Amino acid sequence: MDIFCKIINKEIPAEIIYEDREILAFKDIHPAAPVHILIIPKKHIESVNVLADKDADLVGKMILTAKKIAQDLQISEKGYKLLIRTGEDGGQEVPHLHLHLIGGARLYEEIRPV
Ligand code: 5GP
Repeated sequence: MDIFCKIINKEIPAEIIYEDREILAFKDIHPAAPVHILIIPKKHIESVNVLADKDADLVGKMILTAKKIAQDLQISEKGYKLLIRTGEDGGQEVPHLHLHLIGGARLYEEIRPV
């Protein structure tokens, strides 16, 4: 079982920001910015690579949840980044789909080959 499934099952703790039947949002353990929250589906989906057409509403809900959290944390006006890493070249470490909500400061752009 991946670490995020354990967080969903409350087998390991996390600072939960939002939860409903389908979605969980919690603080990243190693924040890259003042606001760094991970929004995940409770259903185990390994990555964007295995998303199916039937997951479209769920993925939309993940983004809308990020929007709502950004509003609640009052970072909407200044802006933020939403990031989904996928696979090895994408730098994905945890094999459970997750949307990073990163903000609260001006962020460097560092997209370049290793
Ligand atoms: P990835 O590199 O897969 O896009 O992002 C994984 C993220 O999960 C990283 O930013 C990392 O800090 C975070 N993370 C890994 N393990 C844990 C954990 O046990 N708890 C929390 N809250 N975040 C974690």
